[in-house]
Order: sequence, then C-alpha cells, then structure tokens
Amino acid sequence: PGVQQEFDPEKKTLVILGSGWGATSLLKTLDTEDFNVILISPRNYFLFTPLLPSVAVGTITPRSIIQPTRYVARHKKRKVAVIEAEATDVDPVKKTVTFSDNSEVQGQVWSTTIPYDYLVYAVGAETQTFNIPGVAEHACFMKELHDAERTRFMDCVESAAFPGQSQEEIERLLHMVVVGGGPTGIELSGELHDFLMDDLKQWYPELAESVRITLVEALPTVLPSFSKQLIDYTESTFKEAKIDILTKTMVKEIKDRSVVVKMPDGSTKEIPVGLVVWAGGNKMRKLTVDLMAKMPETQTNRRGLTVDDHLRLKGADSIFALGDCTATSYAPTAQVASQEGSYLARIFNQIAKKDALQNQLQVLQAQAGPEQAAEVDALQKQVTKLDKLRPFHYSHQGSLAYIGSDKAIADLPFFGTGNLATGGVATYLFWRSAYLSTLFSFRNRALVATDWMKVKFFGR
Ligand code: FAD
Ligand code: NAD
Repeated sequence: PGVQQEFDPEKKTLVILGSGWGATSLLKTLDTEDFNVILISPRNYFLFTPLLPSVAVGTITPRSIIQPTRYVARHKKRKVAVIEAEATDVDPVKKTVTFSDNSEVQGQVWSTTIPYDYLVYAVGAETQTFNIPGVAEHACFMKELHDAERTRFMDCVESAAFPGQSQEEIERLLHMVVVGGGPTGIELSGELHDFLMDDLKQWYPELAESVRITLVEALPTVLPSFSKQLIDYTESTFKEAKIDILTKTMVKEIKDRSVVVKMPDGSTKEIPVGLVVWAGGNKMRKLTVDLMAKMPETQTNRRGLTVDDHLRLKGADSIFALGDCTATSYAPTAQVASQEGSYLARIFNQIAKKDALQNQLQVLQAQAGPEQAAEVDALQKQVTKLDKLRPFHYSHQGSLAYIGSDKAIADLPFFGTGNLATGGVATYLFWRSAYLSTLFSFRNRALVATDWMKVKFFGR
C-alpha cells in the first residue's frame, strides 16, 4: 500500500535498503527518472556520524547532524517512496524484500513483501560486542543518535554530587571507561575530557579532581590505522590531558559497577567504574548473516558481503552492496561508503540506458526483416558496449580525528605518493572546516556552526 503510487510499469524497480552514508550518497546522485525507487530504512534520516561523539557531551545538538531522508527524496526529479521500516528478509532468488514497521504506535508489527528488479543493500553494520558478558546490559554505545543522547554521563556526575557519598564511591562514579582505541573511542575520550575541563570544572569544582577517563585497548597501540607519529602525538596529548590509556588490555566482562580486564601480564583486574562506553568495532547485522546463509557457496567471508569490482553481490546479479556491510579491501568508513554510493548512481544510469536499448532491441528483433539487420547490429553493439561497467575506484582523501583539548590529527595523502601527518590546534581548525564542508546541507552547516559558537560563548 502506498508503495505503488506513481509506479511506472515501464520502469524497473530499484529498492534501496538503508539511509546512511552509502544509501544517501546514492540517492543524492541517482537519476530517479530511470527507475521506480523505493527506499526502506528503520531510520528516516541521514546521520552525520563523524560528529556523533560531540553530541554525546552536548557540544552539538542532535538535530544539527541529521537530515531527513524525505528531504533528500523530495528534491529528486521523480517521486521516491520512502518507507520507515526494517527489512527482515531478502530473497535473492525470488527477488523480494520483506520489511516490517516495528513502531510502538502501531501496537502490532506490520509486515509486507515487495519484488525488486535491482536491490541496493546498504544496511551498514552493528556494534561488535564479541558476546562479552555484561556489554549489552551495562555499557553505552556510540553508533546511533540515541546512543549519543543516552550516555549516563551526567547521571554519574549528579549521583557523585549527592550528599554523604564516600570518597571511594565518588571516585567510582566519576571513573569513565571507554573501551576501544579505534577512532570512535579516541574521539569520544577527547570530547569527554573537553566537557570535564571546560564545563564540569566550573559547575562541580569539588568533584573535578576525582574525575578520571581511562581508554582500554586490546591491541599494543591505539589508532592502528594512523601513522606512528600521530599515534605518539595522540598518546602524549592524552597523557597531558590525564586520560589514561591501557593498551594490551582486554575487557573480559562488564559488571554493574566495574569492568573486568585482562592485563598485559595475564593477570585479571576489576576496575570500579561509573560509566562504560563501548566502542569495540563493527559486526554484521542479522539480516546480512541471513542473506549470506542463502548463498553459502559464494558468500563465505566472515567480515561481510563479498562484492565484485562493480559492487555486485557475488552470487546475486541483481543485488548491489556497499559500505560497512561489505568485506572489501577498504576500511569501513563514511568516505568509502559515500564514494561507493555516488559510483553506484552512475552505474545505475548506465544500467538504465542499457535496459532501455535492450527493450528497443527486443522489439526490433521481433519485427525486423533482413533490411533492418544493420540497425539490429548497431543496437546490439551499443548494448554490448554499455554492458561493460567501469570498476569502482576509491580515492582516499585522508583520515581525520579529533583528540580533545582543541587538537586534531590528520593523515593526508601528499601528491599521490607520500603522506602528510599533522596534529595540533591548526589541524583542529582544518578538522572543523573539513567537517563543516562535508555536512549534508546548508541547514546542517548553519546549525553545527551555531552550536560551536554557542558552546564558545555559553558552554555546553
Ligand atoms: P550506515 O551509515 O550505518 O547506514 C546504514 C543504514 O541502514 C542506516 O540508515 C540504518 O538505519 C539502515 N538499516 C539498518 N538495518 C536495516 C534494515 N534491517 N533494513 C533497512 N535498513 C537498515 N567514517 C569516516 O570516514 N570518518 C569519520 O570521521 C567517521 N566517524 C565516525 C564516528 C562514529 C561515532 C561512528 C559510529 C562511525 C564513524 N565513521 C566515520 C564510520 C562511518 O559512519 C561508517 O563507515 C558509515 O556510516 C558506513 O556507511 P553505511 O551506509 O555502510 O552504513
Ligand atoms: P575499530 O574497529 O576501529 O576499533 C575498535 C577497537 O576496539 C579495536 O582497536 C579493538 O582492538 C578494540 N577492542 C575490541 N574489543 C575489545 C576488548 N574486549 N577490550 C579492549 N579493546 C577491545 O572501531 P571504531 O573506532 O568504531 O571504528 C569503526 C570504523 O569507523 C573504522 O573503519 C574507523 O576508521 C571508522 N571511523 C573513523 C573515524 C574517523 O576517521 N575520525 C571515526 C570513527 C570511526
């Protein structure tokens, strides 16, 4: 219902799953005149993830970094059906998608199945917990907007301010542990530090000295994807900021009031904590695991979906997959997903042209006599030419991360050969301008710039 509105039976149906970096970049660039486009996602907005840690501490307000998917759809030439729902099954043989509306206002789950000619699978990934006991129950995450809005950070501070607490309890409540020394964990630790130093120190002077931030990382170093020089710079900045980094330390369990870790010497330690934020990386969504199980011969990579050079799913020609749900040689980043999205838009443009010519060819072949042989031949050549798709090529624009204390780090490609590694306050200004310019819309840019100004003048 509703889906068939303005449906053109002459055109093929393109179903897009997701409204994140990959799907939104595709939708933005896609020529929607060519297809009946249906976008299905449980989230009816695009989320600018790089600024999510800033939302967690109130530097940026949640609405500043989201853009409604219907806004993007409304500006397309032809109607795009946007459906807020969660895809629950993809059948690559019947070429159908089943999706449900899980909204609480319905009181029951509505589910329906629709056919597709082409499917773009861009459902991203979910947070990897490795089934470590207590993570799901006691830790906060940093993946979705509601995660950033719901960190129990201020609850810990207010509870510590409650009269009559023992010093030991105050120190526990004010111990913030971030698990994962990837960019998410580092950026969040930096943001937490800023909040403590810039704002909490003034509001709770009696508690400020008891606040501690600890970053726990299982590997020998944090930020393994950055240059050694920037890792050292981050570590020394954290040391100055009194953020403890525990490397070669593995979190084994999270309890209500403590974190159990395996120390580098093999011993086990239980650390009292007020708040744990889990930034342990990505894993496949159940939908992706189920889809792979339907193609056991071709889909065998445990990291994600296997696609060819044109992002076509191995084993299902009508499905294209991109972004964090795929296992490619590229890192699971927004940069990769958005380049893949705009690449796919161009590919669909070519596919639409080819499909149209193919239809023409079929009609001609059905009626043509020997005198049209040359015309048929020319059309056939054009179809064959359009059959050849240009492979996806990723162009790395560099990596940026905010590390707190008004400092950022940047690993930038330098004249195609070398690498320019830079960190500090100037890089922080560059970080801000780079993110301002990559935000989705003028509205987002204006709101984020205003948020930064507000924090400068009035605090968080
Ligand atoms: P997503 O953007 O996650 O989008 C997935 C979409 O699928 C969502 O809309 C989701 O609602 C939808 N979906 C989920 N389940 C279903 C379903 N069953 N059916 C239909 N739709 C579904 N990368 C960078 O390059 N630079 C950065 O600075 C950076 N910072 C980050 C900071 C944080 C805190 C985080 C968490 C990530 C950051 N990343 C960054 C990584 C980047 O966000 C991801 O690589 C990127 O979001 C991947 O895009 P995607 O389209 O594959 O997935
Ligand atoms: P990640 O996979 O990069 O890092 C997770 C870290 O958690 C790993 O280093 C892992 O060793 C550690 N870990 C996992 N389990 C642990 C345990 N039990 N105990 C201790 N440590 C444990 O995840 P991420 O930081 O969320 O990043 C995900 C992707 O998003 C990456 O590709 C990243 O580049 C991208 N990203 C980029 C930026 C940026 O460019 N500024 C910011 C955020 C995310």
